[in-house]
Parts: sequence; structure tokens; C-alpha cells
Amino acid sequence: MKKNGEKWTDKDGYIHTRINSYAVLEHRHIWEQNYEKIPEDFMIHHKNGNRGDNHIENLEALSRKGHGHRHLLPNRIRIKYKTEKFKVLPTTEKNIQFCKRTKGIVINNGP
Ligand SMILES: [Zn+2]
Repeated sequence: MKKNGEKWTDKDGYIHTRINSYAVLEHRHIWEQNYEKIPEDFMIHHKNGNRGDNHIENLEALSRKGHGHRHLLPNRIRIKYKTEKFKVLPTTEKNIQFCKRTKGIVINNGP
């Protein structure tokens, strides 16, 4: 049994810790401590790619879709149409929005 505050790293490089006898992913816990409960279907992304770096400046909430996009192409966005074909568009302010509620970047997946 791991004690409160004790940390361990899983095989994927994510840090877990124990809070009030619950095992939690540390990066999700830290984001929630700084902002609010993570909205359903949102993921906490490590901006610098280091899953062990859980400083709040390195964490960003992204929708599951937006998160996948971030990992596929850092500077470009893929928009998936119903035909299953991908169209690659350059990142613009038009399709990336800052969500005030989640303090994260939201990618508008139009059309
Ligand atoms: Zn990520």
C-alpha cells in the first residue's frame, strides 16, 4: 500500500501519486488543483513532451480530438471529413481557440 503523497512512474512515463488513499495521475491532479475539474473527454497534454514534467506551465487541457491532432502534427491541423479522408490545413487563429472555461486550447473541427 502506497502512502499519501508517494509517487511512482508507470511504464508510459506518467507519474502517479496517492491522494486521500486514491491513486491519481499527478498531471491531471495538478491541473485540477490550479483550475477546476477536468471537463469530461478532455485530456491533459504535456506541452514539452516530457510526461514527467508536471509543472502547471507545461500542462494544457485539450479535447480528445484536439489532443490527437496535437500529437499528429504540431503546427498543422488535420480535419477529418465524413469520407475518412484527411485534409491538412495550416494552423490559424480561426481554427484554434482559447477556451476561457477550461483555460485550454480548443481546436474547432469544422466544417
Ligand atoms: Zn499529449
